[in-house]
Amino acid sequence: MDTIINYFTDMPTLHRSIFLFGGLAFFLMIESAIPFFRFKNNRLKHTGTNIFFTLTTVLVNLPMAFLLLATANWVTINNFGIINMVALPSWLYAIVGLMLLDLIGAYAIHWIEHKVKVLWKFHLVHHTDQHVDTTSANRHHPGESVFRYVFTLLAVLIVGAPMWMVFMYQTCSVILTQFNHSNMNFPIWLDNILVWIICTPNMHRVHHHYRQPYSDSNYGNIFSTWDRLFGTYMKVDNAKLKYGVDTHMDPAEVTSIPNILKMPFQPYRPPIEYDREEVL
Ligand SMILES: [Zn+2]
Repeated sequence: MDTIINYFTDMPTLHRSIFLFGGLAFFLMIESAIPFFRFKNNRLKHTGTNIFFTLTTVLVNLPMAFLLLATANWVTINNFGIINMVALPSWLYAIVGLMLLDLIGAYAIHWIEHKVKVLWKFHLVHHTDQHVDTTSANRHHPGESVFRYVFTLLAVLIVGAPMWMVFMYQTCSVILTQFNHSNMNFPIWLDNILVWIICTPNMHRVHHHYRQPYSDSNYGNIFSTWDRLFGTYMKVDNAKLKYGVDTHMDPAEVTSIPNILKMPFQPYRPPIEYDREEVL
């Protein structure tokens, strides 16, 4: 455990980039070899658009990284935060810390983004992707990256996470979101086992279905625990899913980078009313 902690304490920036872009390349290869859905879209353009938004996410986070470092150092020096209240063995300290960071820094803000109209208009960018694959993981509006960052800061403060734990969390988060957005035909028996602990592709794809209530389920990032605990977990045969958002189904509108950037500033479109609720 000490070796792992030491590694994340001095984690080189190069390694962080390798996890981000290496993970992307790794899952792109697998989903090309064994795809779940056989999309007929322009894959190069789709990848290019999503890589553009991955880069803007990195760019937004970089200048604010010092605040994260300062907060993590402050909680460590002052022994502040939930996980510092009781003495725990280091492995349990790490697991509880990661789970709580995941709850506040990912699940909570994601749920709020679906409930608050102004935030939804930013998060919409992520959901309007009609061909979800591993590159969709970081398709976020730069504005969304800012309020997600605020929640990460809040999480570090409340949890009392030292910097090594923040790096460990961010590394797991990058890999897991690339994994659960990937369009690979992941063995369902293995998915069914893993989903007791982590958010798997079979679980997260449901969240990208084009209409409610399915798009308002499975908010989890790393651990599936929070969806199970708060009653937002849904299991659906993925073959029945259709990606996108019903209010924004025009492909031209959701594939153009300039339009995607403008989306949060366009008028709010209320959810479409259907005669019957869809049961998948
Ligand atoms: Zn969402």
